Parts: sequence; C-alpha cells; structure tokens
Amino acid sequence: MPVRTALALFSGGLDSILACRVVAAQGIRVVAVKFVTPFFDYELLADPAAYRKKIFSKYGIEVFVEDLSPGYLELLHHPCHGFGRHFNPCVDCKILMLTRAKKMMAELDASFLVTGEVLGQRPMSQRRSTLRVIERDSGSDRMLLRPLSAKLLKVTEAEEKGWVDRGKLLDFNGRGRNRQIALAREFGITDFPVPSGGCILADLNLSPRISRIYQGNYMVKAEEITVEDVRLLLFGRQFRLPGGGWLILGRNQEENALLSSLAQVEDAVLAVGVRPGPTAILRRAAICYADDSCLQSDLRLAASLVVRFGRQRKNGPAETNVFFSLGLKTSVLKVSPMADLVFQDWVLNEGQVANPH
Ligand code: SF4
Repeated sequence: MPVRTALALFSGGLDSILACRVVAAQGIRVVAVKFVTPFFDYELLADPAAYRKKIFSKYGIEVFVEDLSPGYLELLHHPCHGFGRHFNPCVDCKILMLTRAKKMMAELDASFLVTGEVLGQRPMSQRRSTLRVIERDSGSDRMLLRPLSAKLLKVTEAEEKGWVDRGKLLDFNGRGRNRQIALAREFGITDFPVPSGGCILADLNLSPRISRIYQGNYMVKAEEITVEDVRLLLFGRQFRLPGGGWLILGRNQEENALLSSLAQVEDAVLAVGVRPGPTAILRRAAICYADDSCLQSDLRLAASLVVRFGRQRKNGPAETNVFFSLGLKTSVLKVSPMADLVFQDWVLNEGQVANPH
C-alpha cells in the first residue's frame, strides 16, 4: 500500500517539530512547509537548501521553504480577526498559512494537514473557539489534525478513516512546556529551539514601525508597501525629513551593503565618496515628491546627515562632497555636517535594531 502523506505547517519551534514526529511515528510521510515573510524568517530564502538539510539532519523532518510575502503584505491592511497586543494578526496569519497549504495538498499528494497548535497555549489564537474559526475560515475543517491536542478536539478525517490512530495522539493543554520537553526526549530530540518571539509583528519595539508604514507615515501609500520597504524599516538610522522623505542611513559596513542591495530604481542613494561613512537611501525620491524644490531640499538635508554621521576629518574643510544617484544620473552636493539639534525631531525609532538579515 502506498504511504499516505500529510502536509505540516512548520514554524521551526518545538511544537511543530513534535507534531511532525508524532504523525510520522504512525507511518505517515510528513512533508513540512516553512512559510516565510519579511516579518519572520525571511533570511531562509537566501539558502533554503541549507535550512532543509539542517532540519532533516537535526529532526528527520523533510521541509521546504515557501515565500508568503505577497498575500501577507495585503493581509496586514485589514485582518478580519484583528490584531493581538502589537501588530500581529495571529488568527488571520494562521488562516492564510492553512489556506495556502491547503492549495498545495494536491501537488504533494497530501491527504491531510498537520499543525503543532496546542489548545489553550496562547490567549488569542489557540483558544478552542479560535481554533474552530481558523479551521472554518481556511476551509480546512476536518482535514486539519493537531496531533498535540487531538484527544481534546473533535475527530478529524485522518482519525475517522484510520489513517492515524487517535489513541496514539496527545492531549496537551495550556501553556506549560514540560510534556513537550518530555516527549522531545522520547524522540531523542535534545537540541530543540527555545520558545522565542521570532515574529517582528509581535515585537514590542519593531511592530510600531510596521504599523506606522501601514498608516501611511513613510511617504509610501499603504497599497504600495513592498518587501523591500519592510526590510528597510528594520535597521539603520531612520528619519522623516521636512519635505516628507523617508531616509535610511547605514550605521556600519554591513548595513551599508544591505542598503545598497535593497535600493530600488526610484530611490536616491547617497554616500560620501572619499572616506568611510554611511550609505543612505532616500526612498522613492524619484516618484514621491510632487514638487522638485521639495525633493532638492530633502536631498540636501539627506546629504548633510550623511556627512554628520560619516567620519569627520580633523581640521578638514567644513564642507564635503556627497554623491547621490537618482535614476541613471549621479550628481554631487557639497554640504556641511548637520548640527544635532536640527534633526532630533526627524528621527524615527533611533536605537532599536533588529538583525538586518
Ligand atoms: S506571532 Fe507572527 S507568525 Fe506567529 S501567528 Fe502571530 S502573526 Fe503569525
């Protein structure tokens, strides 16, 4: 008889690892999908094969990485079930993931879906009533097995049809981790990730930045927010200039390189040519300014900030050349470093930094 396949949502946390292993222990082939967005685990897209290899060698789980960004950027405009404590639309997030996973089932020849959700573990998204809403709104009713709490939930198709033995599933409930840790030991898993907030949308410091761009505060229309916009929000020095421009300055070589890699054709990119200093992006400079004098004024202020945060030359000239490229043209502005008092009100979230990758 051919082996039956299940498609599991894989966060990389202990619960999702255990959910995969519990189902696999019943002779089911489990294929796991790791969804990424610029809000969580986006760096995995740089080398999905390495992630796949790591997860297989550590946990024996076959995983593939899938980019959920386009639908996710859209979802954040109006999540039907609202936000959690921060800018985290956890219920809609799960609905979106399950909806996407459901669409993949035919291609993978999967008979049912698996998640590592535990009843009562999280106040918003893992209440019994919310688990029901997630099933209903993702259209995964009855085909979704939550093996860690299955004995406390209604019977799913996989159990009813005998694909898995309900008696060997679990009845985990609540926030405690002891039973998960004991089960991990049974599977010989000792090197498992500690629970951590890997999602920027649920992060106290970073989620307000995402929220602000969705409120239209960065000269970016909400419907035009891109993956690059989100990534640019998460590092560097951030400013909103008097003309409305959104300026990001790198604080070290690594951030400068990342800024250059994220720059788009409509951005102005500024740098001091002759000595170490920040790279800066004036986002969407070519298309966002209705008035050219306003653009020129913001470019000059941006250049002056670049000099301010660059390495100052002892007894050097007060003015420095800053090169900027906009479209196909590269130009130069001669400016003095800006005085600190001038730009204090333009700073957006100075000092809070995420891993730029
Ligand atoms: S914390 Fe982030 S990734 Fe997790 S369910 Fe909520 S929104 Fe989705």
